[in-house]
This record gives sequence, C-alpha cells and structure tokens, in this order.
Amino acid sequence: MRKFNFCAGPAALPQPVLEQAQRELLDWRGLGCSVMEVSHRSPEFVAVAERAEQDLRDLLRVPSNYKVLFLQGGATGQFSAVPWNLFGVGSKKADFIHTGHWAAKAIKETRRYGEAQIVASSEDRNFSYAPAADSWKPSRDAAYLHYTSNETIGGVEFDYVPEVDCPLVVDMSSTILSQPIAVEKFGVIYAGAQKNIGPSGIAVALVREDLLDRAMDNIPRSLSWKVAADAGSMDNTPPTFAWYLSGLVFQWLKTQGGVEAMEKQADIKSKMLYGFLDSSSFFSSPVEKGSRSRMNVPFVLADADLDKKFLEESEAAGLLSLKGHRSVGGMRASLYNAVPLEAVEALVVFMADFEARWG
Ligand SMILES: *Cc1c(COP(=O)(O)O)cnc(C)c1O
Repeated sequence: MRKFNFCAGPAALPQPVLEQAQRELLDWRGLGCSVMEVSHRSPEFVAVAERAEQDLRDLLRVPSNYKVLFLQGGATGQFSAVPWNLFGVGSKKADFIHTGHWAAKAIKETRRYGEAQIVASSEDRNFSYAPAADSWKPSRDAAYLHYTSNETIGGVEFDYVPEVDCPLVVDMSSTILSQPIAVEKFGVIYAGAQKNIGPSGIAVALVREDLLDRAMDNIPRSLSWKVAADAGSMDNTPPTFAWYLSGLVFQWLKTQGGVEAMEKQADIKSKMLYGFLDSSSFFSSPVEKGSRSRMNVPFVLADADLDKKFLEESEAAGLLSLKGHRSVGGMRASLYNAVPLEAVEALVVFMADFEARWG
C-alpha cells in the first residue's frame, strides 16, 4: 500500500509516473529491454531527452536564449560549478544572500575559488525569514549574486526575486516547478531533481547563453556548462533512468495544468497546514509570516520530549518522513507537487488528534 510521503528528498513521485515506469520497465517501447539498457545515443533515448527538454521549456516558458542542461553531481555539484563557470572573466567575487543551511554550503564552496560577500543575511534571527528586498544592497563589483529561493531545511521562501545589475544565480532545488517563474530575470537557475523534478542522480540548470563563456581556464570538464551545452548534456553517459523519469514527471505536470495549477495546489496545501499550526497551542511554526515556504513546512511540538512519540505514531498512521533535518530537529512536512491534498488533510487530522491526546 502506498502511504503519504512527506520526505524532503528524495521525495514523493506522482503515482501515475511510477505506474507508467513499472509498465514499461521490462520491455520499453517494444525494444525488448528496459530504458536503462539502451544506449544514451540511440534514437529512442535521444527522443526521450529531447522531449524532456522541450516539456521543461514549455512548463517554465524558458526563453530561447537559455540552455537547458541535465547534469550530474546534484545541486551540490552546482555549488562548485557556479564559481568555476562564472569567475573566469573579471571579478572573482560573488554576492550572497545568506538564509541558512544551503546558502551556507554554497558560500563555503565558493570561497575555495574566490570571494563570497554576504550582502544580506537572516542569521540574526536564526534564519527564520528571507531578508526583505529594501533591507539590503548588492555590491558594485560582483560577478554574480547567488541566493537560495527556498531553504529546504529552514522552510524559508523568498516572496520576491532580487533586482541586481549583475547576473542573478539561484538555487531553486526545492521550489522549481511549483510556481511560474520569470526565467528572464535570472542568469542561471539550478536545481537537484530529487525534490520536485524526479529521482536523485540528476540536476537541471538553465543557463543564459551569454554566460557560457566566463569559465575559469582549468575548469573540470564535468563541471563545464559550455561543454554540457555543446554536447546536449551528453558529453559523458548521463543518468538515463533519472532523465527518463524526470521526463515522465514533466508530462504528468502538463496533464495537471502545469506550474500555474501547481502553485494553486501549493497555496491550498500549505495554507491548510500553516492555518492549523497557527491555531494550535501545541504545534508551532518557527518561520516568520511572509517567508513561510509552501514546499517545506518545519514545525515544533511544545514539548520536545514528545517528538519520538509523534514520529512513531505518525509513521504508524501512514504518514512517512516527518522528522526534521538532523541539523535543526523538530518536524518537517514537505509538500511537493506529488504530495496530494489528501495527504495534508490526513496530516492535520492526525496532528489535531495527537494534540488532543498529548497536548
Ligand atoms: C537538497 C538541496 C541541495 C543539495 O542537493 P544535492 O542534490 O543533494 O546535492 C542544495 N540546495 C537545496 C536548496 C536543496 O534543497
């Protein structure tokens, strides 16, 4: 039996996608083998790759002067790739908005290759909010500004896109495809797949074409966006199964009404959970209103000694993976596109019952 899965990543996948993959697993398209067992250069797989790219372009309305890259190494690989690809021309300084765990990782990696200047930070209040647009200024000499549009662990989401003169680089790992985005405002958008795209093992980057010629000379070949772009993301063997499954997710999203429909769903699902948290005297959200993520909802119990019981009982009730990240504790419910409204309804019913018994 499939249960409701709130895992932050690798996360829930749409059931129709898994069913299709299951149907096709042993004999894909009458080839007598699975999609995992054909050459990535076969016409059949190239068609899968091209269709996935086109569907992603359609879903996000990606302008034609952007390359869509399917990469390896996850979002963490892009923490390295961004400075390697953008520090080769002009300044080796980048601006950062520091909002917590993932921003910190990107900053730390960037400092191996150049300067990371923190132009805004929410550290003063334990990373419980996104710095407001009018509270900070970019520096004048940055090669780019990097921010994390949604902190998957802290549950903090920006409600605006920073306005800067330099190229804007965003780690969109946990919100990509959950809402329409104005791609043209960004130089680079990247995301690991295992939150809201598909299985782990693949990452997506949208790179504006004029940024492909800024790499440092000795860039590792496997991190080069230019190499990937010139090779159609097949400079070496790509993770074909993850690519295929991501493509099935894109097709599923189209049948569901695309990112506009996903945003409506995300609003309904997250409002239901935050509404409950705000009305409860036992559960609460540590994130300030106005910055609350619609994808990742951390929450705490008034009595942390009951955390273990909460996790045991929720698991037994068919609600999976509600444990918060080991670095912050507490609980977290991730409400990605593939998590249905019924899952959130079941969660709220369970939490109200738990509060009545233990609160
Ligand atoms: C999960 C996550 C990462 C790390 O992704 P990997 O694919 O494991 O490298 C980076 N940034 C954000 C915002 C994430 O949610």
